[in-house]
Amino acid sequence: MGRVQDKVVLISGGAMGMGRAHGELLAREGAKVILADVNAKAGEETAAAICAAGGKAEFASLDVTSEAQWQQVVDGIVARHGHINVLVNNAGILLSKSLMDTSTAEWDRVFDVNVRGMFFGTRAAVPAMQKAGGGSIINISSIYGIIGAPMATAYQASKGAVRLMSKSCAVDLSPFNIRVNSVHPGVIDTPMTKDLLSQPQFREAALALTLMRRPARPDEVSQAVLFLASDESSYVVGAELVVDGGYTT
Ligand code: NAD
Repeated sequence: MGRVQDKVVLISGGAMGMGRAHGELLAREGAKVILADVNAKAGEETAAAICAAGGKAEFASLDVTSEAQWQQVVDGIVARHGHINVLVNNAGILLSKSLMDTSTAEWDRVFDVNVRGMFFGTRAAVPAMQKAGGGSIINISSIYGIIGAPMATAYQASKGAVRLMSKSCAVDLSPFNIRVNSVHPGVIDTPMTKDLLSQPQFREAALALTLMRRPARPDEVSQAVLFLASDESSYVVGAELVVDGGYTT
């Protein structure tokens, strides 16, 4: 019996990086995982790899900025599985630019994916969770949703929005037995940070602030997601789970 046995779990941005790691771990713990992503090739490969390892996984094509696509994905899951138990709002994009270098189009794009996508996904998934009698929504923010740093104005503003949107949704959705929490990763080794971590100046500066003095593996964040997805966190609501190797300490 896995820790999320038979739960239907929808993960946005589940094709690569941390989303993939969450899918792999939750499938090992018994979940039926739906990996929803714009990258169909990577998403299908990830779903096939999880199935080859004995788990249950499907790929669904999704651009989180499309309200219509979210609805299609949720409707498809309800048709096949009856309901959704867990939504991991994980898809996100990074913009490493300071205030004065950020164009209006770049600002809008970051907010479209990181915030509006989460709004659409949450609103689409709630009725499907109510069919299950409740559920858990896990919003992936960042340490940059808590503290300031250089070269990340739009990204930080978006992740701060995710942090407070999680609390607002926790208040709104608790009457439906839907728990909402946010996860705040620090420096994690994924495709998103590959270029940054290969720059010695960035790597040294980031790791100097990280008490563990290393980036995390994606699966180290997945353990926090697993806890929030499982019934072990049944009384955890509106919390900020920081997984940052001590960066914000
Ligand atoms: P990643 O870039 O490695 O993977 C992101 C995934 O999201 C990819 O599969 C990509 O195809 C998908 N995606 C991007 N735009 C999408 C869209 N419009 N619709 C659907 N899918 C889309 O990123 P990651 O490092 O795994 O980050 C996952 C989440 O964690 C993001 O929200 C990110 O902001 C956050 N985060 C990352 C770090 C880090 O150090 N890597 C730290 C803190 C928070």
